[in-house]
Amino acid sequence: MRAATPTISDSLDILHTTVHLEITDYAGKTINGYAELEVQAKVDGMDLLPLDLMTLTVDSVWMDGVSTAFTHAGELLSIPLTPAMNTGDTRTFRIFYGGEPDQDASWGGWYWSGDYSYQMGVGFDADPHNFGRIWFPCFDNFIERSSFTFEIITPSGYKAFCGGTLESESDNGDGTTTWIWQLPQPIPSYLASVAVSTYSTVAWQHTGIASDYPVQLGVKPSDSTKMKNSFINLDAAIEAFENAYGPYRWDRVGFTVVPFFGGAMEHATNIAYPSFAVDNTLTWETLYAHELSHMWWGDLITCSDQSEMWLNEGWASFSEYLFTEALYGRKAYEDMVKEQHLEIIHYGFARDGGNYFPLAEMPHEYTYGFTTYTRGAMTVHNLRGYMGDELFFSCITEFLDEYAFQPVTSEQFRDHLSECSGIDMTPFFDGWIFQAGTPAVEVDYFSYTADDLGICIEQKLNHAPDYFTNYPIEVSLVDKQGHTLYAETVHANGPNDEVHINAPALDSFYVVLDRNNLIADAVTADEIFLTT
Ligand SMILES: [Zn+2]
Repeated sequence: MRAATPTISDSLDILHTTVHLEITDYAGKTINGYAELEVQAKVDGMDLLPLDLMTLTVDSVWMDGVSTAFTHAGELLSIPLTPAMNTGDTRTFRIFYGGEPDQDASWGGWYWSGDYSYQMGVGFDADPHNFGRIWFPCFDNFIERSSFTFEIITPSGYKAFCGGTLESESDNGDGTTTWIWQLPQPIPSYLASVAVSTYSTVAWQHTGIASDYPVQLGVKPSDSTKMKNSFINLDAAIEAFENAYGPYRWDRVGFTVVPFFGGAMEHATNIAYPSFAVDNTLTWETLYAHELSHMWWGDLITCSDQSEMWLNEGWASFSEYLFTEALYGRKAYEDMVKEQHLEIIHYGFARDGGNYFPLAEMPHEYTYGFTTYTRGAMTVHNLRGYMGDELFFSCITEFLDEYAFQPVTSEQFRDHLSECSGIDMTPFFDGWIFQAGTPAVEVDYFSYTADDLGICIEQKLNHAPDYFTNYPIEVSLVDKQGHTLYAETVHANGPNDEVHINAPALDSFYVVLDRNNLIADAVTADEIFLTT
C-alpha cells in the first residue's frame, strides 16, 4: 500500500520537515528518532494524513502536541485527522520511529560500511524510485516539496553532512554530538540527505554570477589532498553552468564522499560522491559536473513523474558535454557528441533490452537506462542545434527561473520553449521526445543551375513510427580543401522533400549535410560528399 500517489499533494501540503535522528548504532545498524511535519490542508474536509514510511517501526504519533492514533500497514502510515482539516489549516505532526532502514536490491537506500552510515535517495528497483520513505515519513513522490531541518546525533569524532547549511554543532557530553543543518529551499523527499563518518571539511568560497557562496566537500582527512586535486575544476564547472543555466539558487555547493560502488547521487547541496572517483586525477570530472548540473536539472526543477526522467538525467548528461566545451573547447564537445552518438547508433538500444522507447514514456525498468541518459543528452544536443545557441540558452534559463522549485512535464517544457523562442516546438517534441526511434536523412538527388540548388532529402526512420517534420538540416557547400563556401539551414518534411538553396554561382563543390553535427541522427558517417 502506498500513500504517495502524486494526487495526495493536491490535498495536503508538507510545508516543513524536521528529521531528528540518532545515527550511532553501527553495530545494530539501526536509526532512531522522530520526524516533525508541518502540514497544511489545500482542500476542505481532510480526515486522513497518509504518509509513506517503509521498514521502520512507528512508536507514537503526536498531533499539535497531543498523542494521536495511527496505523502502519506495509509502507502506509495513516493518521486520522480529528477534527478534519480545512483549507489553510496547519498542524504539526511528530512521529517517533526507528529500526533498520531499507536497502534497494540493486542500487540505493541505506548503507553501513566501516565508520560510514549514509543513504542514496533513489532505489533503482523500487517503485516509485523515490527513497525518502526508507528514513523518514513523507509523501514520496516527485511533486511534493518542503524545506528541511536535519538534526543528526552522531558518535563524538564523527560528523553528519546533510542538505543545506550547518547551523550548529553541539557536544552532548555523553559521547555524542548533535549536528543541525537548515535547508530553506523546498525539495522533494528523495533529494533529502545524510552522510555520517569521521569527516573533515575541505572548504572555499565561490564567486558566483549573482552572489558568493561556500563550497564544502566532506571527506576523510587522509583523502583531503586527493579530493582537492580531483576537484580542481569544480569552480570552472559551477561557472559554466551558471553561464548556461542561470545563477546557482542554493546556499552552498556540497559533495560528500561515500564508499559507494555504483555512482553518485544528486542530493540537494549535498551530493553523495563515490570514493573511487576521489583518485587524485581529473579522470572523473565529468561525473561531478553531471551531479553538479542536477542542482539545476532535477533539483531546481524536477520531473513530475519517473517516466520523464530524461528531464533530470538527459540534461545532466548533456551538461557533461557542456562542461567539456567550457573547459576544453568546442572541438572537445563535438568529439564527445560524436563518440556518444556512435555508441547510441551501434549499441544504445541493445542496452535497454533491445527496446525503443519514447524519452517521455520510459517504463519503470528502464528509468535509469541508457536511453534516458545518453539518448536524452543527444536529444538536448539536437534541441540546441534546432534552436540555435542564443535562443536555446536564453529560453532554458528562463524556463528554469519560471519553474524554479517546481515539478515539470515535457509538455510544459515544450510550451515554454515555444512561447519564449517564437518557434513552434511541437514538431521537435513530437519527433524526438514523444515517439521512439530516430530519423536518418540522406541526399536522394540534387540539381544545380545558376543560383539554385535543388536537393531532394530522403528521410528514413529507425524504429520511429512517424516521419519527423520541420527537420532542420544545415546544408554546406564545400570546396576540395574542405573549406565551407556557403551554408544554409533548410527544413525537411516527410519521406522525400525537395528543398531549394539560393546557392552562389560556383564552379564545383561538394554538398555536405549537417557538417557541424548539430542534429545527431541515425547516420553515422561524418560527412556525405557529392560532387557537381
Ligand atoms: Zn544523474
